[in-house]
Amino acid sequence: MNVYKLIKKVRSYNSNADIGIIKRAYAFANEAHKGKKRESGDSYIIHPLNVAFILADFHLDEKTIAAGLLHDVVEDSPIRLKEIEKNFGKEIASLVDGVTNISKIKKDKETFDSENIIKMLMASTSDVRVILIKLADRLHNMRTLQYLNEERRKKIAKSTIEIYAPIAYRLGLYSVKGELEDLSFKFLFPKEYHKIKRELKASEKKRNQILEQIKNRLETALENADIKARIQGRIKHLYSIYKKLERKGINLKDISDLVALRVIAKNVKECYEILGIAHNLWKPVPGRLKDMIALPKSNLYQSIHTTLIGDSGVQFEIQIRTEDMHKIAEEGIAAHWKYKGVETDSSFDKRLSWLKEITELKREDPKEFLESMKVDLFGYEIYVFTPKGKVIVLPRGSSVLDFAYNVHSDIGNRGIGAKVNGKFVGLKHELKNGDIVEIITAKHQKPSREWLQFVKTLKARDGIRKALKLEKNIPVRRFIDKKRREENVFSSFVNVKGTEKMKARLARCCNPLPGDDIIGLHVKDGVAIHKKTCEVIKGQKKKAEVYWVEHFDSFINIGVLCEDRIGLMADIMNTMSRSEINVEKATAKTMKGGMAQCSFTIKFHSLEKLSNLLSRLKKVASVKRISLSL
Ligand code: MN
Repeated sequence: MNVYKLIKKVRSYNSNADIGIIKRAYAFANEAHKGKKRESGDSYIIHPLNVAFILADFHLDEKTIAAGLLHDVVEDSPIRLKEIEKNFGKEIASLVDGVTNISKIKKDKETFDSENIIKMLMASTSDVRVILIKLADRLHNMRTLQYLNEERRKKIAKSTIEIYAPIAYRLGLYSVKGELEDLSFKFLFPKEYHKIKRELKASEKKRNQILEQIKNRLETALENADIKARIQGRIKHLYSIYKKLERKGINLKDISDLVALRVIAKNVKECYEILGIAHNLWKPVPGRLKDMIALPKSNLYQSIHTTLIGDSGVQFEIQIRTEDMHKIAEEGIAAHWKYKGVETDSSFDKRLSWLKEITELKREDPKEFLESMKVDLFGYEIYVFTPKGKVIVLPRGSSVLDFAYNVHSDIGNRGIGAKVNGKFVGLKHELKNGDIVEIITAKHQKPSREWLQFVKTLKARDGIRKALKLEKNIPVRRFIDKKRREENVFSSFVNVKGTEKMKARLARCCNPLPGDDIIGLHVKDGVAIHKKTCEVIKGQKKKAEVYWVEHFDSFINIGVLCEDRIGLMADIMNTMSRSEINVEKATAKTMKGGMAQCSFTIKFHSLEKLSNLLSRLKKVASVKRISLSL
């Protein structure tokens, strides 16, 4: 494999291709992987070259080919994505980024079951080409799997058969699916693989003869009836044969449909005519005729299947359908997907079938095909995940709070924010496809009327309304809460000497914290507490002597301003729980400039505990400023 072979291939289907960008991508990748070897002993560049060649097999555009050449650069060399963007532009960089991110999903989330990983892969990319590059990558890795040790071989083969082969199938890339499965099969069950291969080989010649005979006979009969139809011989992959043997507990010689034909007709009327002709030529096996034209499957699959007995007693299957039905069937969600016992979400599959439709377009109009590839896969819904990998489907534009209510109304009612892909966000935060969302709740959080303004789902709206109504019906509780709060304002951690009931507040200008030397300033509504060093109090006359109270009983608001980062909220919450503190209420919002403002209401009984928590909070990485208020 070399770059000239690749270029020749691309030119063969796209004479206007920008060969320059392929050459540059090749040189760039070659330099980045310089000196590195594959387990096979080949230079590393051989891998991206092959991946690009497979992409050329799919007849993809030159940007995807270039991205294929560059796909391992960010992951396997010190080169950053920014450099790729600088050299090759946004589009190629985002393709490479997408591929790099897919590898991350796989590694981080071992607890996810394969079905969820598939959904996640599909949902978290807005460009199908990313998935195609990933498939090409996996295909070449599978083709060279023999160079890895046994343990890695099995691991990679397992994820291939569970995740990548089904994706290829849903995309309608049948030959890729078949090859991925057969290669996985070979490494997972070598003994069984070679047994079937041997037996098939022994009977291959005979099978081909039978197929030819049947095909010729049918063709002649159709010609006589003046019906023009395409007849295809169907090749069965080793793995699908193996599965059938396993499922039915039979031997290879007992498999009836190793020989199979598909007839694609002009219209429905001719489908039935062909069925009649076939049943006239051969004897049908009772109970094996399925008319899914008259009775389409719920996923729109239409076709007539019948099993016939050939001259030498060999059974074979014929599928008859129109060109349109064929297209739908090929869209990846063929009826036997469900028939084979794999449960899938039907609305999800509908989207994928649409996706397959656009990959079909490439044969007709390459330009339209490429345009449609850039479209977001999922129009009106987004797929987001709980930390355990459960999928929650929400309308586009849904917030963290919508997610919370869709998990459970209790979680919605008590939600204060969430960790989205490890990053702390507020309730209003809009979710994107593929987000992993962990809701953070607080025991004393209560729904507010304002929430109704930004939720999108009925479930959230209903949940909030219900909770607000309940709240209204229990005025006693609210009354007590309010009373207690007011009392506490006057028995706080700062006091004005002489007048125990004077209302005090901490000044914003100097932000005094426990332990600081403080002084009060009489203002309209009470006393403002400043640091003794504060500029504001200089020259002021209405000063008051104030002091920190050692023991009190008060709700205190702690404001924490910090640089937003992954794991921030978890660190803060951990600090709180280590201080054995119960958070009554917490809110947080992300702000411009990558900052986050969090606020916690906590009941304290002693200054010592408060100071203790503050000094711990100060040590949390990226915390910039802590302030208190009553
Ligand atoms: Mn790779």
